[in-house]
Amino acid sequence: MAETVRTFIAIELPPHVRQFLADCQQRLKRAGGDVRWVRPDLVHLTLAFLGGVPADMLADVEAAARQAAAGFGPLSLRVQGAGRFPPRGLPRVIWIGIDELSGRLAELQKALAAATAAFAEKVEGRAYAAHLTLGRVRSPRGGRDLSGAVDAMSGQTGPTFEAREVTIFKSDLSPQGPAYTALARIALAHGGGN
Ligand code: ATP
Ligand code: MG
Repeated sequence: MAETVRTFIAIELPPHVRQFLADCQQRLKRAGGDVRWVRPDLVHLTLAFLGGVPADMLADVEAAARQAAAGFGPLSLRVQGAGRFPPRGLPRVIWIGIDELSGRLAELQKALAAATAAFAEKVEGRAYAAHLTLGRVRSPRGGRDLSGAVDAMSGQTGPTFEAREVTIFKSDLSPQGPAYTALARIALAHGGGN
């Protein structure tokens, strides 16, 4: 069988945003709960998850992503709010939201997902919601207090940043946690008004 590479496309976060996320985690940790927190330096904004891609197709994925992103310029993003999936009952995922006012982030996400769908192991059926995964809940222990602490953050406004590129990542999962390796960086360098 051909070797496959676990692949996703994401926007990386600058240090001041990672620091904000670390602060959010510290506050939430005080609430208790049984959570596997994502290391702040590994948090990113996923735009498209492709799963296992045959290694010999990665160049085609990159070409398709480059073409999809070609019309896009830098995006102004703002960290905003916090929440949980699912929104009611015991949480499974704790996240921090991302706002982008022009609608270009949603367009970029759609374009990248559509351009790379043919290479994806499994195409995501759900509507896209921009979020940063802060932690994954391991068990129901302390879930109610955790939910309360997350909800108390739902109105918060965080730092802003500019995304100037998207990155195609390889993900290697292990019991020690995931390791991400950048395979390609694609500039959002279109000069036009966006
Ligand atoms: P782990 O799986 O060990 O918790 P991880 O989720 O960070 O680590 P991956 O599973 O390789 O690592 O996922 C890489 C990125 O793609 C993450 O941002 C993850 O949230 C996202 N992702 C993973 N699976 C899916 C999926 N089925 N649909 C949408 N996004 C996904
Ligand atoms: Mg995962």
